[in-house]
Parts: sequence; C-alpha cells; structure tokens
Amino acid sequence: MTESSQTNVRKGSCFCGEVSFAVEGKPLFSLYCHCTQCQRADGAAFVPAIHYPPSAFAWTYAAENKPEEETLRGFTMYRCKKCRSCVATQMGDTQNWALRCTQLERDANGKIKNWDDVKPSCHIFYDTRVVDVADDLPKWEGFPNQSARVG
Ligand SMILES: [Zn+2]
Ligand SMILES: [Zn+2]
Repeated sequence: MTESSQTNVRKGSCFCGEVSFAVEGKPLFSLYCHCTQCQRADGAAFVPAIHYPPSAFAWTYAAENKPEEETLRGFTMYRCKKCRSCVATQMGDTQNWALRCTQLERDANGKIKNWDDVKPSCHIFYDTRVVDVADDLPKWEGFPNQSARVG
C-alpha cells in the first residue's frame, strides 16, 4: 500500500482487536456466500465475503500479536491467538485476500463505515442455503454468471 492513498484505506480486525489489517481501494467483489465451506468454517448460515488483491492488503498488528496460520484445502487462514477469530484468509491460487465484511471497521454506532461502498452485490451458492433471504439481490446456484440464477 502507498502512503499517498490513505483516504482510500479501510481498517479491520478480529473480535478482540489485537490482529488488525488495512485494505486499500475497491474490492474485487463483495457477496454473500452460502457455500458449505463458509458455513462450516464460520458456523454461520452465510458469510459476507469481500475479496482484495494482494497489493491492496496489509497487516497492521503489533509484532507480538502475529496471528497463527494454517493452510487447509488451498486456503491459508489467519487466526488470532487470543480470541481465536479467523481474521483473514489468503487463497492459495490467486493469493487474493478473502475477508468478512463483518470484520471491517465500525463507526460509533456499530455500523460498518461507508457500508454502501463495500456491501455485497449478490448471493452465491444459494442452492446450499440454510435460510431464505428476502432481498432484491441476484441469487446464484453456484458461482455468479457461471451457474443458474435462482432468484
Ligand atoms: Zn483477537
Ligand atoms: Zn463460501
């Protein structure tokens, strides 16, 4: 990341705040993922996933808070030693960073800052959903534009 583009930088952290990161610029995409891997990894019905290229991501934690990393199924997951949250995941193939929108910095009211700039634009792997979502976003059976649109 470059010093000159600080205004375009967004912060994020784990549950306890000891492991933090910053991302710069526009995400590659932002979507709600209902795949079984996200459901199992996060224990969530679906996950608000946001991806950034390697050049847009930087860790910002103090050295003693270095997260533990574990590579599983082609993903390297970074987990806070203290609160055990998975803070970020790096994809083995593209090296892109997969983050959860929910870990982005909040304002005083608990709302994600500039949410409209990063909020998900569709639902993917909706076929394996465990809950129906009644919003107006496109819903894809699998990957967007490569699977049947089901909503
Ligand atoms: Zn933590
Ligand atoms: Zn997923």
